[in-house]
Amino acid sequence: MKDTGKHQGLRNQLVSVLIEKGITDKNVLDAIKKIPRHLFLDSSFENYAYQDKAFPIDAGQTISQPYTVAFQSQLLEIKKDHKVLEIGTGSGYQTAVLCLLGAKVYSIERQNELFKRTSVLLPKLGIRPKHLTFGDGYKGLPGFAPFDSIIVTAGAPFIPQALMAQLKIGGRLVIPLGDTVQVMTLLIRKNETQFEKHELGEFRFVPLLEDKN
Ligand code: SAH
Repeated sequence: MKDTGKHQGLRNQLVSVLIEKGITDKNVLDAIKKIPRHLFLDSSFENYAYQDKAFPIDAGQTISQPYTVAFQSQLLEIKKDHKVLEIGTGSGYQTAVLCLLGAKVYSIERQNELFKRTSVLLPKLGIRPKHLTFGDGYKGLPGFAPFDSIIVTAGAPFIPQALMAQLKIGGRLVIPLGDTVQVMTLLIRKNETQFEKHELGEFRFVPLLEDKN
């Protein structure tokens, strides 16, 4: 569990790459500068961890590309103490970014193996999400709703109704929509019944799967 000057140097380079690609939110860039991404990956990926790429993690899943993490995080417009729901904890890297942005993070993961691994890893790194759950993200977390924002980190075939219902008025839901390629979609809740929709380019994610229980 070492984080060295070399890793810090590689992170600074990664941040420069993200700035070149159009990420402007200083708080997001600062979070990426601080989080040791190599510790969220198998040690065989240590030398690649600061490339702007997705990599395999356990259970056939992936850690999202840093650009994608930064892009989604920036869209959420997180303020300190915002309640944020994340669907797809995975490696916990995106969870860590949200925590460093000052959010109270609630995160759901469908693969028990990843849920267990990440539940142990994050506290070791001094990162404390409010609540990690093993369960089905399609349902959200009604017991903790409403949320200031919701982020889905897997490709969804449609926007789950439960997630829309758990968003505060004025809140932001960021979800990649589609099968082989996903369109990054931002919904802003205007009132009880109306949502403003923005489509923000194409990305590639592993699929948001239905409940397996
Ligand atoms: N944010 C993670 C992304 C992991 S990939 C990271 O950067 O590491 C997407 C994750 O969503 C996978 O871990 C996958 O198991 C999870 N997932 C897929 N369907 C889900 C569902 N219905 N509910 C909760 N998590 C789900």
